[in-house]
Amino acid sequence: METVNCNLCGSAKLKFVYNIPDRHFFPNERFNVVECKGCGLGFVNPRPSFEEINRYYPPEFYEYFTTDLAFHKKRYQEESKYLLDVKKGKDRPRLLDIGCANGDFARYMAIQGWEVEGVEISANSQPIHDFPVYRIPFDQLEGKCAQYDAVTAWAVLEHVHNPMAYFRKASEVLKSDGIFVFLVTNFKSLSSKRLFGEDVPRHLYFFTRDTIQRYMEIVGMELIAEDYRNNIYGMPPRGWLYYLITRLVKRRDFTWEDMPPSFSQYLNRNKLEKNISSMFRYALTHPIDILDRALVPLLERYQIWTKTYGIVTYTARKK
Ligand SMILES: [Zn+2]
Repeated sequence: METVNCNLCGSAKLKFVYNIPDRHFFPNERFNVVECKGCGLGFVNPRPSFEEINRYYPPEFYEYFTTDLAFHKKRYQEESKYLLDVKKGKDRPRLLDIGCANGDFARYMAIQGWEVEGVEISANSQPIHDFPVYRIPFDQLEGKCAQYDAVTAWAVLEHVHNPMAYFRKASEVLKSDGIFVFLVTNFKSLSSKRLFGEDVPRHLYFFTRDTIQRYMEIVGMELIAEDYRNNIYGMPPRGWLYYLITRLVKRRDFTWEDMPPSFSQYLNRNKLEKNISSMFRYALTHPIDILDRALVPLLERYQIWTKTYGIVTYTARKK
């Protein structure tokens, strides 16, 4: 484990935000999320070092990309829409997809007439042979100055140890007027900052619009669009009612232990089968949870409308 200063402004003045376990793979390991008092950047601190992080990405993590193929296909379609303007008037525009996993998004774009390349460091992701994939951290990519019309990073930058180096490299490899499209979580949202929606410690950094804007200025890019919809990934504000009750009625901080159990956790705990009778029993014994779940879609819509949702897709242009 290593302790770090703020990646954006260098400050060592940090405040504690919350503490949670790795809920997916190592539930006995807990991590602190802190916020920089100087610029508002959120991050895991202390954190697993670059050498240590690989164990938090077991092969099961990558199974996600090979299940629910219909969902992923719809996702690629949605992602490709952010690049429509770049395509106009160009014969074969060049795309670099950072964190390309099994390469399916880049492959999708190749069918749309793009010349594609990818970057992927994980040894646990599948080998790719049909287009060039650089198996090194993106910030170490050499000899690609001003090569690409677009660079994309779908849910990647929250995973890296040095986002500043990634933003710098994106700016370096883009042609002038090229665009960088990246999806990240929103640290200003209830889901990210209060409802433990982040996948810690795989997510190491938590951005806000202000911190992204500041990164862009430093690396010579200009933020031109932000999209707070759940068209690609979602971060529903599950647990919001428990949060309100804890803060307003119990008048104390909301912790990971205050989060409602998922239905499957409830079934496991009570040794029940998943059927109508257990669902009915759950509903009777968890009325707050039922109300919480029932209103999540409405609250989600409100957050998208007010730009306070947990997911954002930013588009930046190289100056
Ligand atoms: Zn800072």
